[in-house]
Amino acid sequence: MQKGNIGVTTENIFPVIKKFLYSDHEIFIREIVSNAVDATQKLKTLANKGDFKGETGELKVCVKVDKDNGTITVSDRGLGMTEEEIDKYINQIAFSGANDFLDKYKDDANAIIGHFGLGFYSSFMVSKKVEIVTKSYQEGAKAVKWSCDGSPSYEIEETEKADRGTDIIMYIDDDCKEFLEKNKIEELLRKYCRFLPVPVAFGKKTEWKDGKQVDTEEDNVINNTTPIWTKKPSDLKDEDYKEFYRELYPMSDEPLFWIHLNVDYPFNLTGVLYFPKIKNNIELQRNKIQLYCNQVYVTDSVEGIVPDFLTLLHGVIDSPDIPLNVSRSYLQSDSNVKKISSYITKKVSDRLQSLFKNDRKEFEQKWDDIKIFINYGMLTQDDFYDKAKNFALFKDCDGKYFTFEEYQQLIKDNQTDKDGNLIYLYAQNKEAQYSYIEAAKNKGYSVLLLDGQLDTPIVSMLERKFEKSRFTRV
Ligand code: ADP
Ligand code: MG
Repeated sequence: MQKGNIGVTTENIFPVIKKFLYSDHEIFIREIVSNAVDATQKLKTLANKGDFKGETGELKVCVKVDKDNGTITVSDRGLGMTEEEIDKYINQIAFSGANDFLDKYKDDANAIIGHFGLGFYSSFMVSKKVEIVTKSYQEGAKAVKWSCDGSPSYEIEETEKADRGTDIIMYIDDDCKEFLEKNKIEELLRKYCRFLPVPVAFGKKTEWKDGKQVDTEEDNVINNTTPIWTKKPSDLKDEDYKEFYRELYPMSDEPLFWIHLNVDYPFNLTGVLYFPKIKNNIELQRNKIQLYCNQVYVTDSVEGIVPDFLTLLHGVIDSPDIPLNVSRSYLQSDSNVKKISSYITKKVSDRLQSLFKNDRKEFEQKWDDIKIFINYGMLTQDDFYDKAKNFALFKDCDGKYFTFEEYQQLIKDNQTDKDGNLIYLYAQNKEAQYSYIEAAKNKGYSVLLLDGQLDTPIVSMLERKFEKSRFTRV
């Protein structure tokens, strides 16, 4: 048996991990399961390249909770590790300036974890002891067992393991007992692992038998390994997008339309964004976009990554190029993130533009529902206004729709005052202002209906943008 110290420069990283990361400690499950997925995919790659000649067999990641022994075990049949690899990848966590960094980012668990590659060590947020039992795929490899009780010293010894791959055994701390509840782990797997690219089994499927729930033979696979954003748009039907939307937001109405994002240069990004049917309060709609990194769930707060007005959209964005290990303020100045943000804006305006051009009737039918996004975007983002001014619509009191340009043409002869100003007449309430609307119409004027949530600021903006124009209430 060999003993040694884990190569960290801070005297004792574990209390730090526990203390600073406490609020977010549930992410250990994401880190450990995604390592198992990585190891599995690496093995697949080796097999494809012919560097691994054995049988890959069924490649599943298994998560087990043993309440009696107080452990959670994550097992994979991936490439495993040799003793040297454990030493290199687990024992020597090299980092410098650790104290400064911890100080700076102490409120941001993702920052610390990402920065130090502490992925594996996040298991110590919930464990008093962690064991790695692993056997490399390499021929003649010996199985090894590493264990560490949360102090910076570890033990490593040879062991027996029948199969290739790795078991991570976490002995859950007494103050983290909630993680030994099956429901809790199931909830976390659903949150973080729902779309991982390798099947993740959590126990067995159950069925009712003789008045109680019993395990069946079938693994309880908790993830969908090929969510639609990983597929080609040409292979997908409308129904697939709608079904995926229902999977993500079972309580929501059907989406109005969606945009499939797919770029690989100059950054990698895939995803599907949905225009939801907005109910009354737009604030309630925020933070429904989920951010993934190679199918690993990261967060549902995407401010800074997508433009503000698009945080009203729903859906999924997956990008390995968004630096997740940095603070929010840094994120906004990151050049990749800026590019991503303007790419998304462009995709959204292109999609709206083509909907308008190719099917104006449908566009008009959806206008009342999408108006709020478009107005919000026009108000908050100049580059979006420049595109949207070509397809944004006015609606008159008779329910007819016009582009800005069309409407100008319509009223220019009849509604220009003596100083040459174009007068836009509008009502905010069709019923309350009924008699005024009728009176104006009888004089041959057109009256717009501006009763939307954002129409007041829109009117002030348009007065500034349009030359020689005034908006006047009837
Ligand atoms: P990262 O995943 O970002 O590399 P981690 O701290 O999560 O950082 O893991 C460190 C390293 O430990 C991995 O890069 C990998 O080499 C090794 N490792 C962790 N878990 C496994 C596993 N289940 N199978 C094989 N290797 C693993
Ligand atoms: Mg990792």
